[in-house]
Amino acid sequence: MTCAPLAPGGTIGIIGGGQLGRMAALAAARLGYRVHVFTPEADSPTEQVAAQATVAAYDDLAALEAFARSVDVVTFEFENVPAESVRLLTSLVPVRPSWKVLEVAQDRISEKKFFNGIGIATAPWAEINSLADLQTAVDRIGRPAVLKTTRLGYDGKGQVKIGPKTDLAEAWAGMDGAPAVLEGFIDFSGEISVIVARGLDGACATFDPAWNVHTNHILDTTTIPAPISAPLAERAVQVALKAAEELELVGLLAVEMFVTKSGDVLVNEMAPRPHNSGHWTMDACVTDQFEQFIRAVCGLPLGSPERHSDAVMTNLIGSDVDRWLDFLKEPGAKLHLYGKAEARSGRKMGHVTRIAPRQN
Ligand code: AMP
Repeated sequence: MTCAPLAPGGTIGIIGGGQLGRMAALAAARLGYRVHVFTPEADSPTEQVAAQATVAAYDDLAALEAFARSVDVVTFEFENVPAESVRLLTSLVPVRPSWKVLEVAQDRISEKKFFNGIGIATAPWAEINSLADLQTAVDRIGRPAVLKTTRLGYDGKGQVKIGPKTDLAEAWAGMDGAPAVLEGFIDFSGEISVIVARGLDGACATFDPAWNVHTNHILDTTTIPAPISAPLAERAVQVALKAAEELELVGLLAVEMFVTKSGDVLVNEMAPRPHNSGHWTMDACVTDQFEQFIRAVCGLPLGSPERHSDAVMTNLIGSDVDRWLDFLKEPGAKLHLYGKAEARSGRKMGHVTRIAPRQN
């Protein structure tokens, strides 16, 4: 793997065409790079702002090979890409982060094993491949608990809560035979996330922990600074740094954690890319998560993650986006729209960040 920085003028290949790719492509353009996006979706949010797009399936090896030959480095805004596709890309061009990182993050069980293996706590969990597994695990972990598919779950999709009266056979049937994990339900006092960037030279930079409120399993608001003690914030930052170092990450890693009532953190999950809970950095930090991502992937020095403002980021889900004109009229509000034509219910259409001078 080449260790020299990719000079401006180079082309960054981004796998995935959603809003994360769009905002990464805008940050790349600001630094003088071109972006070639690879996505199965036509007229995607990323394609609208990219220099070039390949619209093809993630397992279309011929299209992937042509894509790899047209770019200087490949990264991901969507990590659930088949292993064989990543292997092919890796044989042709630097891929950052590496397959090892994507593989751990693709599967909830490998993720939990990874964190527990480096001494970082998660909710109690058990691997579930049958109704008998589920019965044994519920006896051990207790109720309430949450049953989740191990793969391809996001925003609460593929999840069932096991309450005091939930019928286990019905809950297991709802998984459609997919491998699953049972987690103890954490009666948390809140949810936080830390985003860490790690460069090609191993240097790391972390953003301040963010306080996240979910509604219907979808991120609703992120508030900075998080209303947590300084030692807890430091502990959360150390968790994210340790994970990035152990993974030998090159890129960005978002680590989502529960804050327990006893004042500790338990890792929920991680994502090896920019994250919705880091959008506030665009308006409140010297270097935002997207620029930091591009810097890491291109082998550039990381920028300062220093926060100059307090911020509350609110996601615009579905028809929330219809109020775009109101947001534009509001002083201190910064509107970001993703270029999606159809405001379907539950779809992330944009976000608005309200900033104020930093108080602490
Ligand atoms: P996930 O898809 O794992 O990020 O879950 C989405 C949201 O569901 C989380 O952000 C939490 O609000 C909630 N949740 C997931 N797992 C648990 C758990 N084990 N205990 C309590 N709440 C959970």
